[in-house]
Amino acid sequence: MKYSALKILWEGLTGNKGWAPVWREPDPKPEYDVIIIGGGGHGLATAYYLAKEFGVANVAVLEKGWIGGGNVGRNTTIIRSNYLLEGNQPFYELSLKLWEGLEQDLNYNAMISQRGILNLIHSDAQRDAFARRANGMRLSGADSELLDTAGIRKMCPFLDFENARFPIQGALWQPRGGTVRHDAVAWGYARGADARGVDIIQNCEVTGFQIENGTCTGVETSRGAIRARKVAVCVAGSSGRVMAQAGMRLPIESHVLQAFVSEGLKPVIPGVITFGAGHFYVSQSDKGGLVFGGDIDGYNTYAQRGGLPVVEDVCEGGMAIMPMIGRARLLRMWGGVMDMSMDGSPFIDKTHIDGLYFNGGWCYGGFKATPASGYCYAHLIARDQPHEVATQFRLDRFARGAMIDEKGQGAQPNLH
Ligand SMILES: Cc1cc2nc3c(=O)[nH]c(=O)nc-3n(C[C@H](O)[C@H](O)[C@H](O)COP(=O)(O)OP(=O)(O)OC[C@H]3O[C@@H](n4cnc5c(N)ncnc54)[C@H](O)[C@@H]3O)c2cc1C
Repeated sequence: MKYSALKILWEGLTGNKGWAPVWREPDPKPEYDVIIIGGGGHGLATAYYLAKEFGVANVAVLEKGWIGGGNVGRNTTIIRSNYLLEGNQPFYELSLKLWEGLEQDLNYNAMISQRGILNLIHSDAQRDAFARRANGMRLSGADSELLDTAGIRKMCPFLDFENARFPIQGALWQPRGGTVRHDAVAWGYARGADARGVDIIQNCEVTGFQIENGTCTGVETSRGAIRARKVAVCVAGSSGRVMAQAGMRLPIESHVLQAFVSEGLKPVIPGVITFGAGHFYVSQSDKGGLVFGGDIDGYNTYAQRGGLPVVEDVCEGGMAIMPMIGRARLLRMWGGVMDMSMDGSPFIDKTHIDGLYFNGGWCYGGFKATPASGYCYAHLIARDQPHEVATQFRLDRFARGAMIDEKGQGAQPNLH
């Protein structure tokens, strides 16, 4: 089923009877070439690119709940490629380029909106650091600009520039950053993968791995055993628990991160704004709600709900840069479980078990990575070689002392 303006008009005039389900609900087959565990954004994107780019379509995506029920449908929807380190920057720039062509590629409206991202600067040291980051971004082909306060005032006159404690001194501006409707990403990739023959199997929890003589040959699930030549794990906040079933301990902790949405307001926030002296980021959805968030809750958990102290902390961050936000009423909030790696960077790698692959450690920045993560993971699974922009996302990097410590904030998951 191809979507087009004509199709929408026709269906509107004829009672909307011609829409077909967006993906099938098949029963699991006894065997696949590739099983992907986790039907989040990354798992579905991996399946899509495996089928589309690498000709591997005998693939099943096994999802314990429903498509879009995990972090892909819980995040604050921000995309950007304003990274500094060479292990990261080209990867996130590839992702942004894939976002830019995604709707045409999938024939699906993901509401990709490149309204720009503004990272506020509050000290001289921060200006130096952002100038370095902006230069690094330009060197690898990304867009970046340093704005002075006059430039920011034109865009966001409502910010508290003279805040006694955190005066705004400038900003790093990436015009190509923005937001994407998160669950449409899951649905679009699911639809695209399904159309190429991938089986998307919901309500199918993986409960164990079949490992024979050091080779993974399949999985145990709540719907029976399924064999596979290759098994690719992609379960975000459940990474530790799932890989423990294969006897692996990961350099990852699970923490909850919350998101908040206000009542609908008239358009006020032009793009994404982040507070550089605390942890607060905000954008405005097309329906008018302010979508915002801040730091993770500081305790380990697998529960998809957070605590009240972080609500206070996030709202303090918002009030510090834009006091008018205090007049908006909070409409909804929720939590998602984050796979926090010890250097804040991800993994896309083979494991020591033949045929078993791992993708995770996305911390709270994995939504923007969805297209490149899927593309590079598919590359690794199909060719057994890392893609050139993902060569540093290795599981052994801590043993080698080759961390990708993007923010220079050390090994504290609550500081990334
Ligand atoms: C509140 C919040 C705000 C965020 N904001 C941003 C942002 O603005 N920008 C950004 O870039 N990133 C953001 N993130 C991070 C981003 O959402 C995640 O890094 C990313 O979505 C993780 O990848 P995923 O989509 O594949 O995860 P998920 O959607 O969580 O997919 C993993 C799937 O695995 C399934 N699963 C788990 N165990 C099993 C099992 N045993 N068997 C079968 N299936 C299993 C789960 O049910 C889940 O559906 C945010 C996250 C949260 C929670």
